[in-house]
Amino acid sequence: MMTVLTNLSDLRAWLTVKRRRTSWHDWQWQVRNSLEADDLSRLGLISAAAARAARRFPARVTPYYFDLADPVDPNDPILRQCLPDAAELRNGAGQADPFSEARHTPVPGVVQRFPDRVLVHASAFCATNCRHCTRRHMLGRQPIVLPGMRLARVVAFVRASPRVREVILSGGDPLLLSDAALLRLVRAFAALPQLDAIRIGTRVPVVLPMRVTPALARALGQIGRVWVNTQFNHVCEITPEAAAACRRLVEAGVPVSNQSVLLRGVNDSVEALTVLCAGLQRIRVRPYYVFVCDPVTGTGHFRTSRSFARTLARGVATRLGGLAVPRFVVDLPGAPGKVDV
Ligand SMILES: *Cc1c(COP(=O)(O)O)cnc(C)c1O
Repeated sequence: MMTVLTNLSDLRAWLTVKRRRTSWHDWQWQVRNSLEADDLSRLGLISAAAARAARRFPARVTPYYFDLADPVDPNDPILRQCLPDAAELRNGAGQADPFSEARHTPVPGVVQRFPDRVLVHASAFCATNCRHCTRRHMLGRQPIVLPGMRLARVVAFVRASPRVREVILSGGDPLLLSDAALLRLVRAFAALPQLDAIRIGTRVPVVLPMRVTPALARALGQIGRVWVNTQFNHVCEITPEAAAACRRLVEAGVPVSNQSVLLRGVNDSVEALTVLCAGLQRIRVRPYYVFVCDPVTGTGHFRTSRSFARTLARGVATRLGGLAVPRFVVDLPGAPGKVDV
């Protein structure tokens, strides 16, 4: 945050002023003015222990996303996802890299666990760091495919693997790259006729919807094989701005789907998931997966059991039509794909 604020009422006043400025709608302004651990400490939003947790995994929240929260409600679903928590320091059964992604890296920046799909680390940064992040141990430091030399190696690897028919750009968040860098990357893969889809995994529509500019949406749509997979976890994230970002993509010809993470205290009820999925259908975003939270170090306080997830899955399926019902899945090392709960 560029301005130094020391109490919540000053923060509220600052947000009220900034929300009305055109710069609020400038995604780079949002990134430059993100709240970090020092800001959150100074504002009294996190304890000293939580600030220590943020030394292990940095805190970062866009003003836009923070503005959706009620900062005095400790159970607020937005704050639960973005404020560091002392519980992250507890030694749970978690691991830094439960899926041994490092072992499944044929060339730097690539993870391949399935024969027909490869995941590419396109960016090392996110607009808002999710406290439940699966790749929290590598955010900010993993090898990414840009710049050029590395990208050429990744493209060569995919070309030499004719069974690969889908590339998943992930990270970090690929939409934090500039338009030029992102489009260079997407077009490099789109030039391979073997690929049926280029999937972009991004939380930008949820935490930084102004990043999905009309020009970017149009350019992605013109490529013809781009899909976007985003992550709404709670219905309060479906704001007019987020809905508009998804609409720009859908109307440009980019299918948008959603994978949620099942998070204790955020969305762990049939009611919360039903209204979330109904809300997604209303904005033409297809509910794809609900993930059981991965066993990653520092996320134990979010995790629920597989049998509880199964109960929720049954409840949601009786309340919504099939088009609004996601698959409830768990990621298991060694499985041939995501596994139904
Ligand atoms: C989850 C995952 C995918 C994508 O799986 P889908 O079931 O197609 O969504 C691809 N690669 C890796 C390494 C993954 O972890």
